[in-house]
Amino acid sequence: MTGDSLDPYTALYAQRTHGLTVSEIRALFAVASRPEVVSLAGGSPNVAALPLDAIADTVRDLIATEGASALQYCGGQGDVRLREHICDVMAEEGVLGSAEDVVVTVGSQQALDLVARVFIDPGDIILAEGPSYVGALGVFAAAEADVVHVPLDADGLSPDALEEAITSLAAQGRKPKFLYTVPNFHNPAGVTMSAARRPAIVAVAERHNILIVEDNPYGLLGFDQEPQPALRTYSDTHVIYLGSFSKTFAAGLRVGWVFAPPAVREKLVLLSEAEVLCPPMLTQKTVVRYLEQIAWRDQIKVFREVYRERRDAMLDALGAMMPAGTTWTHPAGGFFVWVTLPEGIDSKVMQPRAIHARVAYVPGVGFYADGQGRREMRLCYSLPPPDRIHEGVRRLAGVIEDELELRATFLSGGQRAPAHSGRIVDPGPGIG
Ligand code: PMP
Repeated sequence: MTGDSLDPYTALYAQRTHGLTVSEIRALFAVASRPEVVSLAGGSPNVAALPLDAIADTVRDLIATEGASALQYCGGQGDVRLREHICDVMAEEGVLGSAEDVVVTVGSQQALDLVARVFIDPGDIILAEGPSYVGALGVFAAAEADVVHVPLDADGLSPDALEEAITSLAAQGRKPKFLYTVPNFHNPAGVTMSAARRPAIVAVAERHNILIVEDNPYGLLGFDQEPQPALRTYSDTHVIYLGSFSKTFAAGLRVGWVFAPPAVREKLVLLSEAEVLCPPMLTQKTVVRYLEQIAWRDQIKVFREVYRERRDAMLDALGAMMPAGTTWTHPAGGFFVWVTLPEGIDSKVMQPRAIHARVAYVPGVGFYADGQGRREMRLCYSLPPPDRIHEGVRRLAGVIEDELELRATFLSGGQRAPAHSGRIVDPGPGIG
């Protein structure tokens, strides 16, 4: 019996629900959050590094002095004072915007959804990096877009690869609506678009009249240098910029934004009103208070140090313990390392064995719309302390070694080797 035949509503569902699947990350969540498992899966920011007492005082004062408006609806575009502050935050990365063209959203995730609704008809083509942020792929799937991946390298998306993708689609009579990109400290790839490539990427998009959706939640979390200029700084007309307070303040507030050319901004506001009426006033005002009363630039420095320490622990452990033939990216900021496994190892097939060895990661296939990524995986270092990261990588390296040994045994025509260190087991329910 299939899952569908158990569902009494199957005949009623809209076409667009057919592309909806449980994300790799959600499927992993329950098992990865067990205390004995070192989770390198997640992707959550380290909110424990926030000055929680000071924030508690700020929120208490907000309700006491501005409660009547903080607990009220607001306009669909969001609180104007917050939008003005958002312009200051964007200016840190060279983006000069006016509050009028900013739309506050429920996280940048809602901004992605709004942009998809404004631009995508079923069957439309979206260009996206390969790999891409799983939450964006979910939005594009729900909008019934056809995602075409453009490969990433250590310097991010290459203008030549972008040009080639556009040209080869054109040869089939097809044209993408927009390019979706995460230029800084990419989720999941951990790479950053080089400074030289930025204007060149924008020039390719402008020449072909393709929009760029620049998704930038991690831009201020660089470890080594000042933020690179946003793609938006190179074009007023062809870039829609998405920002978020999830990583620079708190993800649980669900405050993000989109900064778009005026005509697009109007459509975004109308759609957002239809979706949520207005973004939550309480959390918007909390962000305003935070930006006005707490030294947020200093707090970003605290976050950077927290993540830098964990990035170093992850890279040291990978360098010391990963079997030959395994490669990985070297993030200069953000949360993620992208690992490519030795030839013949499938990260999805290996996942139950890793869980049994008490380490969790996200298999690479979840970050592609077309089934690529079987040899790849995402590791996230944002949350565990350095010694747990080290232990997690130690466990993972052992699992990969076991896989390699098993494969060598198969290839040499031998019998299946006994389960090394008891790690090789059948997939448990709900895993793999
Ligand atoms: N874009 C990217 C690249 C992300 O990594 C995330 C969060 N993981 C989001 C968007 C969504 O962030 P939020 O809705 O919390 O702003």
